[in-house]
Amino acid sequence: MDAKPAAIPFCRPTIEQEEIDTVVASLKSGWITSGPKVVEFEKMFRERFKQPHALSLNSATAGLHVVLAALGIGPGDEVITTSMTWPATCNVAELLGAKSVFTDVVDGTLLMDPADLKKRLTPKTRAVIPVHHCGAPADLDAIHAVIDPYAKSIGHKITLVEDAAHAVGTAYKGRPTGTSSDPVVFSFHPIKNITTGEGGMVVTNDDALAERMRILKFHGVQKDSWTRYASGGSPRYEVIEPGWKYNMLDLQAGLGIEQLKKVERFNARRTELAKLYDELLKNVPEVRPLARPDYPHVHAWHLYVVRLDLKSVDIGRDEFIGELGQEGIGAGLHFTPVHLHRHYAKKYGYKRGDLPVVEQAGEEILSLPLYPLLTDADVRRVVETMKRVLARHKKKADRSSGVGAAARHA
Ligand SMILES: *Cc1c(COP(=O)(O)O)cnc(C)c1O
Repeated sequence: MDAKPAAIPFCRPTIEQEEIDTVVASLKSGWITSGPKVVEFEKMFRERFKQPHALSLNSATAGLHVVLAALGIGPGDEVITTSMTWPATCNVAELLGAKSVFTDVVDGTLLMDPADLKKRLTPKTRAVIPVHHCGAPADLDAIHAVIDPYAKSIGHKITLVEDAAHAVGTAYKGRPTGTSSDPVVFSFHPIKNITTGEGGMVVTNDDALAERMRILKFHGVQKDSWTRYASGGSPRYEVIEPGWKYNMLDLQAGLGIEQLKKVERFNARRTELAKLYDELLKNVPEVRPLARPDYPHVHAWHLYVVRLDLKSVDIGRDEFIGELGQEGIGAGLHFTPVHLHRHYAKKYGYKRGDLPVVEQAGEEILSLPLYPLLTDADVRRVVETMKRVLARHKKKADRSSGVGAAARHA
């Protein structure tokens, strides 16, 4: 029997010698929690996006949490996001006692639908969180055009918060994600374009918001441990309001520093691989890549998502992912619509049919392996394997006699 080729995992972070060396150096230095590397990593973000504030955290979830908390969002308030997201985006609103509201998505791109957003604004809306799904930017101008006049009419601010977990390297109409005047939250989870193991960063140009986030992300005390122990600093600390323990370690920030230096190379490779998928999938009619926004943008290619044409095959998406897995190809699911998850459906009475576009997509999408360590040959193998699995499952009507049986043995 032939040896099976090694499996192609869905994701694998690119960790090189520099990343290993910096972590070892931190371990040997005697300072492993928040310290000089965190300071440097934050500075890199400030300089990259020309922002006065960049706050590192131990996850993007923590970032979203402190943004909403620092905005003063709580019971009686509503936070709108798209149902096509990781639950962190809305869980944090729930944890603050606010009400989560979900929009449908634009058919094709699966980004927040500004027209649907318009219908969901109420006088209680305090924040709107579009998601740059897969690394494609949400239509921020169209979203502002919906929010801003409404906020003016009700006489209070509605803050747009960008969930940029997929968007290190994205740009919208010539504006890099991270340069807007709205708070932007990045993630460095191992699957994302750059990683710190776990980690996140909020950038903002709002001094007051940044100050409150800084307090909330570290116990609610006014100084973090590094500045407390730095020479000349006061040993005293004081709780302003109860906060969380969300600080990033130097171990993590060191990784981030090295990764951020390489993000252009990483994303260039992601883009090449995405182009190769585009090319190879042209003759696989059963899977269709997501549409790209029609406004000018730079795609960060965090994820390569395709939709399975359920009408042409006799299996569902979950089985398709399962069979790919059996053939050594890892695939992911980003995402299942959040409004139908038990907590949200039960609490707010959402049911199937409420957000039809995202619900349909939620049954059809899967994410293919996409990361700099993949070779062109890996991508070809992913596509060939998909073709083989699809051939086994073509609906009868599409099958010339005997092909099915032959394909089963292929
Ligand atoms: C990964 C992700 C998050 C959460 O990021 P963490 O750093 O894991 O907390 C939030 N939103 C979206 C859309 C994500 O994909």
